[in-house]
Amino acid sequence: MYRAPRGTSDILPQEQAYWRYVEHRAVRLCELYGYQRIDTPAFEDLGLFSRSIGEGTDIVEKEMYTFEDKGGNQLTLRAEGTAPVCRAYLEHGMHNLPQPVKLYYVAPIFRYERPQAGRYREHYQFGCEALGDSAPALDAEVIDLAWQFFISLGLRRLTLKLNSIGCRQCRPEYLATLKSYYSGHIQKLCRDCKTRLKRNPLRLLDCKQPQCQAVADSAPKSSDYLCPDCEEHFSRLRGYLERLGLPFEVSHRLVRGLDYYTRTVFEIQPESEGAQSTLGGGGRYDDLISELGGRPTPAIGFATGMERIILNLKKQGVTVPALPRPRVFVAYVGDEARDEAVKLAARLRRVGISVIGAVGDKSLKAQLRQANNLAASYAVIIGDEEIKTGKVVLRDMATSEQETITVTQLLERLRSALG
Ligand code: AMP
Repeated sequence: MYRAPRGTSDILPQEQAYWRYVEHRAVRLCELYGYQRIDTPAFEDLGLFSRSIGEGTDIVEKEMYTFEDKGGNQLTLRAEGTAPVCRAYLEHGMHNLPQPVKLYYVAPIFRYERPQAGRYREHYQFGCEALGDSAPALDAEVIDLAWQFFISLGLRRLTLKLNSIGCRQCRPEYLATLKSYYSGHIQKLCRDCKTRLKRNPLRLLDCKQPQCQAVADSAPKSSDYLCPDCEEHFSRLRGYLERLGLPFEVSHRLVRGLDYYTRTVFEIQPESEGAQSTLGGGGRYDDLISELGGRPTPAIGFATGMERIILNLKKQGVTVPALPRPRVFVAYVGDEARDEAVKLAARLRRVGISVIGAVGDKSLKAQLRQANNLAASYAVIIGDEEIKTGKVVLRDMATSEQETITVTQLLERLRSALG
């Protein structure tokens, strides 16, 4: 027997109400904020991801699904959502459109991670990108969108963490200070952090190991090393967030797992702590588009994992609307009636009434049992007698009351009963 590959799962019909709910809210909110949908391919050139995410990151070093196709091309399954959107922005000359260009996506992401609750090898992300403007008001808008998204889903007890990690001008000095501070504490660090010190010192700050957290608490803060432009940007952003009433906390240890971030970074976390606690996060990536060969184009984005949202909705007991299901069951008695039933079911569907039609040779009793199991509100029954008189029997499944009516009357009755 085959099973779904480790770290992947089937999204079964009983789960779909959650997915529809979350995706519907995402789409609704994006429309409210003026974001348009983009869908990019499931795989891209390896170089797009390795260059943008950064060579020293976990994703590029350990987690990408890279393969060579039959033409000898090195391709990678979508490892994150931002780089493909930037690639599409460049490829389609979107810098010629009014800026910022605001795009969103809902797409599967593939990472070879160690599977656990809330961490999978295939997961879906909803993400937004606003490209072509550096104004802190845009950062505030993206953060507001992210926050309102979670709140509108009904999630509560969330924390919004914010930091600025500076730009090309001010980051080198900060990184040098950080490295020199950590070099003095090297014996206390976990094995991964010893490597991070050489390859990706910013990531030292968000190590989850207790011994490293203690060192990180007293580490130099990026916000103390910002150049005047970054300083002003960060301060104006905080001002906007205060005006919007968003309850953010500045967290000096907040950095993100991808190398392309500049200035603003933020994360939204639920109450519970842990490696897979982050619900969503994002930040500015002002240099990414120029690194991919475009002209300098500041941008900011945000992404969140659908599975983690659903885990949290369940944990917090948020109920989601059930998906619509057919409420009418068409049953029949006899071969001739079966042909009529097929026609009637089709006729009802043509006018927008969703219907389940009985199939096979079950007795009427078995068909009605099936209607009951499917939670149908009405059964329409056709037999030889009905064919002769041109009428059908309408049965109210809750009360078992039945009446014989014409098809025209049936349409009227069902339309008014089902809305
Ligand atoms: P990232 O692209 O790493 O910034 O992740 C953005 C969001 O996607 C996270 O906050 C999580 O909600 C979700 N996420 C990231 N990695 C995984 C994963 N392996 N499994 C499930 N959700 C994930």
